[in-house]
Amino acid sequence: REEEDLDALSKRVADLDPKSSTPPELFTDLPLSAATQDGLDASHFKTLTTIQSRTIPLALQGSDILGAAKTGSGKTLAFLVPVLENLYRKRWTGYDGLGALILSPTRELAIQIFEVLRKVGRNHTFSAGLVIGGKSLQEERDRLGRMNILVATPGRMLQHMDQTAELDIGNLQMLVLDEADRIMDMGFQATIDALIDHLPRERQTLMFSATQTKRVSDLARLSLTEPEFVSVHEGA
Ligand code: ADP
Ligand code: MG
Repeated sequence: REEEDLDALSKRVADLDPKSSTPPELFTDLPLSAATQDGLDASHFKTLTTIQSRTIPLALQGSDILGAAKTGSGKTLAFLVPVLENLYRKRWTGYDGLGALILSPTRELAIQIFEVLRKVGRNHTFSAGLVIGGKSLQEERDRLGRMNILVATPGRMLQHMDQTAELDIGNLQMLVLDEADRIMDMGFQATIDALIDHLPRERQTLMFSATQTKRVSDLARLSLTEPEFVSVHEGA
């Protein structure tokens, strides 16, 4: 029965027209799992913001995305909903290792993302962790091997990739860079290069920022596949 539902859900995702002239307005218009719908509902999210309605359908279908929209426009759910859904539809479990890695330029922002993930994802069975330092490497390490979704700062994540054998990233499906422009501007370029080196090439990459990042060097280092550029400029 559950298998059937998942196939039906996957078919509805495949049937989406992500460039429709009538983009989805409500989360209930989207082909989402009951777990995510309930999580959104419990957090009182009903209407999609513009960046969400223009990127979530694309991201659900597996596209690489460069999304730009000003601060406060709802970029967090634009990547968290696809992260939860795409892993869910792949029947991701504890045995599959790390499925999604979300990078944030600062610890504070990483904590905020993690809190939204915990609320919206509360009906899912994924394990999720924060990797932002502040604890010993060993303490973080003990839990890392079991995580499906990690929210991390680049430097700390790289430290684990270099030093934590338990970390299983060979299966990674999705890489998210939140505040991608800030990550690049804060001098994390070399760290990102080194991180990417550890990740499987076959993956979905989502980049979000407040300004359009089209710097060729940044795009090249992330090896995006036919990325969709979605930029939202709204009147004041
Ligand atoms: P950004 O990352 O673009 O700066 P956030 O994802 O932090 O924006 O969201 C900004 C605020 O808008 C948050 O308080 C969040 O809870 C709220 N928000 C996001 N999406 C929605 C939505 N679809 N409906 C109502 N509020 C939303
Ligand atoms: Mg944000």
